[in-house]
Amino acid sequence: MLATAQVQTKLNELVAYAIDNLNLKSEDEYYVLNQLLDLFHLQAAGEAITDYGDFQTDIVDPLVDYAVQSGMIQEEQRILFETKMLGIVTPMPSAVVEEFDSVASVQGVKAATDWLFELSKANNYVRMPDINKNIKWEHKGKFGRIDITINLSKPEKDPKQIALAKLQPKTGYPACMLCPSNVGYAGHVNHPARQTLRIIPIELGGEEWNLQFSPYQYYHQHVIAFSSEHRPMDVNDKAFGRLMDFVDLFPHYFIGSNAALPIVGGSILTHDHYQGGEKVLPMFLVGNRKTYSSTECADVTVSIVDWYNSVVRIEGKNRDQVYQTACKVLSVWKDWTDESVGVIAKTSDQHNAITPIVRLDNNTYVFDLILRNNRTDEAHPFGIFHPEESLHNIKKEGIGIIEVMGLFILPGRLKKELEEVKGYLTGKTPLDLKELSNPENPMSKHAGMIVQLVNDNGAKNTTKKADAIVNDYVNSACEKILECTGVFKNDQAGQAAFDKFMTQGLGLIAND
Ligand SMILES: [Zn+2]
Repeated sequence: MLATAQVQTKLNELVAYAIDNLNLKSEDEYYVLNQLLDLFHLQAAGEAITDYGDFQTDIVDPLVDYAVQSGMIQEEQRILFETKMLGIVTPMPSAVVEEFDSVASVQGVKAATDWLFELSKANNYVRMPDINKNIKWEHKGKFGRIDITINLSKPEKDPKQIALAKLQPKTGYPACMLCPSNVGYAGHVNHPARQTLRIIPIELGGEEWNLQFSPYQYYHQHVIAFSSEHRPMDVNDKAFGRLMDFVDLFPHYFIGSNAALPIVGGSILTHDHYQGGEKVLPMFLVGNRKTYSSTECADVTVSIVDWYNSVVRIEGKNRDQVYQTACKVLSVWKDWTDESVGVIAKTSDQHNAITPIVRLDNNTYVFDLILRNNRTDEAHPFGIFHPEESLHNIKKEGIGIIEVMGLFILPGRLKKELEEVKGYLTGKTPLDLKELSNPENPMSKHAGMIVQLVNDNGAKNTTKKADAIVNDYVNSACEKILECTGVFKNDQAGQAAFDKFMTQGLGLIAND
C-alpha cells in the first residue's frame, strides 16, 4: 500500500496531468487539489510536481489500489471511485462548452469535436484500452465489405455484482442513460458513474439537443445526439429535419436514428436520440442498383442501394427537395402493404418503420432510408424480418442502426464459445450429440452450427484450418442476418415488389 507521502505525490501528478491534458486552468489548481485531498481524507498536500509517468499505470491505478487497500472503497467500486476522482480534475461542464465553442470559432467544428474526443479519452470517459480489447475483422461479402466486432469492452457482471444490483433501490433518477441529468452523476451498481461526462448543447429543429461521445465507441468518433427532454424515440418528418440540421452543423459526421419500434429499433427507445460518427460505414461505400427520377423534386436522384437489405437512397444538393422526398418515402412506407412478399404495414400495431441515416458527401445530402418491418407470426415469433432462429447463436438481439449498415457488434461470449467450436473441428472435443443437446450445456445453442461444420469438414482439421472454418461461418451468418432484415428480398419477386413501391408507391420514374 502506498504511504501517505506517495499518495500526496500522485495527487499532485494527477493535477499536473489534468493541466496538460484536460484543459484544467492553473487558476483552478489548488481548488482541485484540495478536493482530491478531501477525497483521500488527507489534511495536507505534497510538494508541487510537473513531471509524471503513465496516466493509468503510474497515477490512476495506484491511487485506486490505495483506496481499496486502505478500506476507503470495496473492490467492486473501483470504476465508480476512479470516475469520481477523474471527474474532480475534469473542468466544469460550462468550461468545456466554452472551450469547445472557442476551438470551433477559430479552427472549425471538426477541430472542436476532435478536441472533445481527445478530452473524453484523456479523462477515461471513453476507455480506449478496454475498447482496444475488442476483436475486429473485415469480411468481403457479396454486396461489399462487412465489419465484424466481438465486443469485449463491456465487462460482464459477476454474480456478486448482480446480487448487489438487485438490492439497489430504484429511484428513477436519472430517468435513463441518455438524460442530460447524467452529467456529474455518481452512479451506483445499476448505473454508470458519469462525473467525467461532458456534453455540448446544440440546436436541432429549433429544439435543445446535446452532443456527447458514446462511451463504447463501436466505431471511430461514435457520437450521440440526444434531446434535452426525456421523451420516446419517434422517426417522423421533424426527426428528418433535425438529422439534416445535424449534418449542417457537423458536416464531417454521418447521423442516423434507430427505427422507433421494438425488434427493429435499438436498445433505448425511451429517450429521443440519434447516433453518428466519423467512420465510413460499409453501406455508404456501395453504389446504386437502380435509379429513379422524381417529377415533383427534379433536383434529387432516388435509388435502390445495392445492399443486403432494403435501402432507398435520396441524393441532392437541394436540401428542401431531399427533405420533401424523404418525408414522402416515410409516409408512403408507413402504410405500404404488399402481401405477395409478406409486407404488412400494420395489424393492430404499426409494423412498417424506417431507419434513416443522413450524411454530406461533397455538399450533397445523401439520405438513406432503410425500410424495416417488425411483424411477428407463429413461425417467426422473434420477427419475420429478423435473424432466423438458426442464427441466434451468433446474434439474437435486435438488429439496430449500426448492424443494418454492415457493422456487426457481436456479444463477448462468442470469443470463448467459438474457441470451443474449434475444439470439435480439431478433434480435441469429441462430438457427443447427447451432451451437446443438453440445455444445461452453454454450447447447446451452437449445436446446429457444430454438427453442420463437423459434417462438412470432419473432425481432423489443423488449428489454422479450424480458425478459417469458424471465421467463414460467422462471416456468412452476418451476411444472412443482414438479408433477413431486408423487407424486399434480393430475388426476382422481392426486387419486383421493391420496384413497385418505388414507382406505384412513390410515383417515381425508373431511369433505365
Ligand atoms: Zn432520458
